[in-house]
Amino acid sequence: MSGDFSPEQKRYLEGFASGLQIARAGRSLNPTGAPGAAAPSGPDAPHLAAMARQEAQGRKLADQEKWKREEHPFDAFHRLKEQARRDEFPKPPDNFRWRYYGLFYVAPNQDAYMCRLRIPNGVVTHWQLAALSDVADRFAGGFSHVTTRANLQLREIPARHATNVVEAIQDIGLSSRHSGADNIRNVTGDATAGFGVTELLDTRPYAREWHFHVQNERVMSGLPRKFNVAFDGGGAIATLEDTNDIGFQAVEVLPSASVPAGVYFRLLLGGISGHKDLARPTGVVLDPAEAAKIANAIVLVFIDRGNRADRNKARLKYVLDEMGFDAFLKLVEEKLGHPLARIDESHIAPRPAQDRQAHIGVHPQRQPGLSYIGLVLPVGKLTSDQMREVAAIASGCGDGEIRLTVWQNLLLPGITEDKLDEAKSRIEAAGLEWRASSLRAGLIACTGSKGCRLAAADTKGAAQAIAAYCEPRVELDQPVNIHVTGCHNSCAQHYIGDIGLIGARVAEDPDNEESETVDGFNVFVGGGYGADGAIGRELVTNVKASDAPQLVESLLKAYLAERASPDQSFQH
Ligand code: SF4
Repeated sequence: MSGDFSPEQKRYLEGFASGLQIARAGRSLNPTGAPGAAAPSGPDAPHLAAMARQEAQGRKLADQEKWKREEHPFDAFHRLKEQARRDEFPKPPDNFRWRYYGLFYVAPNQDAYMCRLRIPNGVVTHWQLAALSDVADRFAGGFSHVTTRANLQLREIPARHATNVVEAIQDIGLSSRHSGADNIRNVTGDATAGFGVTELLDTRPYAREWHFHVQNERVMSGLPRKFNVAFDGGGAIATLEDTNDIGFQAVEVLPSASVPAGVYFRLLLGGISGHKDLARPTGVVLDPAEAAKIANAIVLVFIDRGNRADRNKARLKYVLDEMGFDAFLKLVEEKLGHPLARIDESHIAPRPAQDRQAHIGVHPQRQPGLSYIGLVLPVGKLTSDQMREVAAIASGCGDGEIRLTVWQNLLLPGITEDKLDEAKSRIEAAGLEWRASSLRAGLIACTGSKGCRLAAADTKGAAQAIAAYCEPRVELDQPVNIHVTGCHNSCAQHYIGDIGLIGARVAEDPDNEESETVDGFNVFVGGGYGADGAIGRELVTNVKASDAPQLVESLLKAYLAERASPDQSFQH
C-alpha cells in the first residue's frame, strides 16, 4: 500500500485486498460450476418459478410475493428517488420495496423513515463512524442505535432525505441494501475476531465473502422471507449463531475422525428464536473456505422450497420441519454437486467457554500488551456527538476500528497500556460507561413503540426502568440477561433471556371490561443460548409496564434465595 494512506485506511484497503484474494483463488459460489455465470433472471428466475409452482398447487401468494413479482425492488430506485423529491412517504407495496434499500417507513409511530445499515462482522472504522455521525445530523435524527445484529440504524429521517441517506451511506463505504424485507440480513461474526484470546478462527474473511455475495448476486434477493447467517469463531463473546437460519460455529475436529483434524465450521440450521426454535447441529462440518458456497446452496434450496403463501410459515425452520434435515441436506448436496462431510459429535473437542461479561469493560487481547474496552450503551443508543467521540477515541487510543456486538454495544480494540486510562476517562466524559452491573450488561431491548409500528410497548423505556429500579435493590453476583421485545417478531429474542418480556396491551383496570389498555408484558424465564440453549417458559402474562420493575426485582431476589450454589445459573 502507498504511504499516502493513514494506518486505518490501509487496514481497510487490506480488507478489500483479502476479499480480492478469495476471488482470485477462483472459487466460484455458483453451484452450476460456471465461473462468473450470471444468475438467472426474468420469468425463469428461481423465485418466480417457485411462486408459479405454488400458485399451480392452489396456494394464494402473500401480497409481498405479488409486489416482488410486479416490480423487483432493486428495479425501483428511480421511483424511490422521485418520491423523495416530492417529499412523500410510500404506500404499503413501496414501503415493502424500500426496505430492500434499508428504508423502513415507521408510521404511525413516527412520520419518518428508519434506515438500517449492513456492517459485516460488526467491523466499522473510526472514519466511517465519524462520517456516519454527520449523516445522522444532516439527514436523520442525530443519533444511531446499535442493533441485536451488531448493526447500526439511523432514525427520524424525513421523506425528502430517503435517497440522500442511502447514497451518503454508500459514499462512506457502507451499505444499507438488503437490510430489510425478504433478504439475507446483516452478517454477524465473532465480535473479537482477530484478537480474541480463546478464538479458534478469525471469522472476518468468511463474513465478508458472504456479505459481498449477498450484496452482488441478484438471486439472493428472491427469498420468501428474511434469512439470518452468523459466523462464530469461538471467542468469549457469544455471537448467538444458534438463533440464525444458518449458524457457522468454529470447532476443533480431533484426530481419528473421517476428516483430517483441524478447525472447521459446524453447520447449524433452522434457528428462529421468536418461533421457539434454536438452530440445530446437522452433523455436517465444512472447510471454512467453503462456507459461502454452502450457504449459497442452502439459500437456493430455501428459495425453491420456502412457503410463499403464509408469511408466518415462510422461514427456513418450516421447510426443515416439513422435509426433515436429511432430505433438505440432500437437496443442498444436489445444488453443490458433491456430498457434505459429516462426523460424529464425539470427534469434536469441547468449544472454548464463553463469558457473559466479556463485551463490557477492559479485557486483554491475544496480542501481548493490547486490550479492548467494551462500552455500555443505554439499550444501544449513541448520539451523533458520542459517535464522533467514540470514533476519535478509537483513532487516538486504539487501532482505529470499532466492533459492534449482538449485545447492542461496541468494543474499542487495540488499546495499549499507556492509553487505557485516557480511553476510559474520555468514554466517561462522553457520557458513556465502560463498567456495568451484572444486570445492565445483559439488558437488551428492541426498538419498541417509539419507532416500530408493531410494538405493543415502549421496550427501551421499560428496560431502562427495570435497570434503574433493580440496580440499587438487587446485588447480583452472576450475570443475568433480560431481553425486552415489543412483539412476536422478537428482535430482542425474549425466548433466550434468563428473563424475557414480550410486549402486550394490558387492561389498565383488569376488573373493568371497558378499560383502556396500557403498555404491558408477558414474562418468560429460563431461556438460554449456546451450551445452555433453551427456550424460556411463560411465567406470567398481562403485567403492566409500570409493574414490570417490581416483578423483575422479585424474580431476581427469588433466584438469589433459591439457587443451590452461587455458580448455579438463572436457567438451572
Ligand atoms: Fe418492532 Fe417487534 Fe422487532 Fe420490536 S420485536 S423492533 S416491536 S418488529
